[in-house]
Amino acid sequence: MNQTLTRRCRALCPLAALLAAVLLNAQRADSAPRPKKLLVVTVTKGWRHDSIPAAERMIKRLADESGAFTVDYARTDDELKAKTTAAALKGYGGVFFAQTSGDIPLADPAAFLGWIKSGRAFVGMHSATDTFPSFPPYIEMIGGQFESHPPEHITVRCIVEDTAHPATNSLGKTFSAHDEIYVLKHFVRARVHTLVSLDKHPATGAPGYFPLAWNRMYGRGRVFYTALGHRSDVIESDWYGRHILGGVRWALGLARGNARPQRP
Ligand SMILES: [Zn+2]
Repeated sequence: MNQTLTRRCRALCPLAALLAAVLLNAQRADSAPRPKKLLVVTVTKGWRHDSIPAAERMIKRLADESGAFTVDYARTDDELKAKTTAAALKGYGGVFFAQTSGDIPLADPAAFLGWIKSGRAFVGMHSATDTFPSFPPYIEMIGGQFESHPPEHITVRCIVEDTAHPATNSLGKTFSAHDEIYVLKHFVRARVHTLVSLDKHPATGAPGYFPLAWNRMYGRGRVFYTALGHRSDVIESDWYGRHILGGVRWALGLARGNARPQRP
């Protein structure tokens, strides 16, 4: 009897060990850190900024200097289609829409938004809000849409609404920026955590509330957007680099920051 038990145990133990190993690996796969590779998208179907090369250089420099993330690029329609399939997106922790414009050819725009919602990072700069103008779910995700800008580049006094957030904690309570300044529409203040705003219309000077940068949760995904960053000299400046790096780190889940909408 004892001999039979021993034989059974010898036969079963390797099976049990195998099962335990499989379960452990499955657990590891679940808790494995998500890739911190950002897909930097610079495809345009509307206005094309001549500061795109400066934006690419800035993002690469931040990646290399911080070691916090790595970058890959989608610069052409074909690259964008190939790198935004469900299978390809598994390799990225998030995307960075750098000066994108118009209806750019994602493999599947609705699935792309679902992928962000599942816990990925979306970072948008400047004309990322001038992208997918006729796809409301994208505008809802990013939090606003480009409406207009003054004809000239102007200097504005930017108000930092959260001096503790990693995207703005190096900017002080106010800072000045000389850039093309966006006015946005379809912005819902109660839906986002505003980081930077103006208290005057950039063209008319009329008092009001004009958001320039914000972050928000989108499902389990994290969205950071800044309307600043038209000019190459802004993009190449130290303060702008710190603004972007903080936003990227927050969006990738590498830095803590408030995402609750403020009370107006
Ligand atoms: Zn611009």
